[in-house]
Amino acid sequence: MNRQQIHQWLTEQEPAALEQLWRRADRVRREYVGDAVYLRGLLEISNHCVRRCHYCGIRADNHQIERYRLTTGEILEGVRQAQALGIGTVVLQSGEDPELTTEWIADLIVQIRRRYDLAITLSLGERGYDELAYWKQLGADRYLLRFETSNAELFARIHPAAAGRVQDRIIILHQLRELGYEVGSGVMVGIPGQGYEDLIEDLLLFEKLDLDMIGIGPFIAHPDTPLGKISWEASDPAQVPADELMTLKMVALARLVCPQANIPSTTALATIDPQQGRELGLQRGANIIMPNLTPPDYRRKYEIYPGKACLHEEAISCHCCLERRIINTQRTLGRGPGCSPNWQRRRERLSTT
Ligand code: SAH
Repeated sequence: MNRQQIHQWLTEQEPAALEQLWRRADRVRREYVGDAVYLRGLLEISNHCVRRCHYCGIRADNHQIERYRLTTGEILEGVRQAQALGIGTVVLQSGEDPELTTEWIADLIVQIRRRYDLAITLSLGERGYDELAYWKQLGADRYLLRFETSNAELFARIHPAAAGRVQDRIIILHQLRELGYEVGSGVMVGIPGQGYEDLIEDLLLFEKLDLDMIGIGPFIAHPDTPLGKISWEASDPAQVPADELMTLKMVALARLVCPQANIPSTTALATIDPQQGRELGLQRGANIIMPNLTPPDYRRKYEIYPGKACLHEEAISCHCCLERRIINTQRTLGRGPGCSPNWQRRRERLSTT
């Protein structure tokens, strides 16, 4: 797809015309990754964060939230629960928390590997090459790091660099690839100051990076963050709306530019449309759901944005609700790790050369 075609879809308003985009994305999804919807059990292991991202509620400067860090025992209990529920992947996510040291994470990976048979995905923010290499060697499989927006100027504005570090998430994504991780990235849709050209570049960058996983969610303003406090012109025609339709267009277009990628129907999408956000994502290109397995008392404190879907559910009821939604959309439940076919191909190529 070229820029002009993408632009046309992003600005298309006519439901009948959009029906073609939805059908095409759904057909490509079925052809390349099938009808199975894979589950990734999410454990939000720490909300401590040293960064000051202007969009994120767990930023260092937000003193309104209570900070927590799960113990190894609590995390292992979450992983046990994931396996018992038939979930084939566990995602360990956190703020950028230096207390989660290289060795502590390494030990956690070893313990999970020793006891359980699940794929391990890490999403711990911007970490160093050596520790990423070490964790991979010990058995981590995947890493998620959204580039948030391909517009470098906008990114720099909403994502202040860590003291004394040059920040470049794209370089880290290349490093992850080189280290043999399945690589996930993604963006927020409707960041204040984000235009249509930026979304086009986002999609072309997904394609260029040849991503294995792509997470796309609407930007949701958090009142205790700089972006939640500014007044911005949502009616400006150049501003991308942070709404469900635009998010679904991005999910569908991501499926078309990266047909083999694993694409979740995100919690942020379910947050702005609790009734049917999950289902619409699955029907318009997505093939992954990430049930939240964080104990509810901690889950409330991992408030990256307000009103997060599934906030009060115990893991088991959250899981049952999501399974029902999957079955209701005429899809099947994926079993096992559900690696991206893209990554499998790459691995086979490597092993034959
Ligand atoms: N510290 C990790 C994990 C962050 S939370 C990291 O930076 O990678 C995971 C994702 O939540 C972020 O990448 C961002 O895309 C999304 N997010 C954060 N704040 C948000 C908000 N206000 N609205 C929507 N999505 C948000």
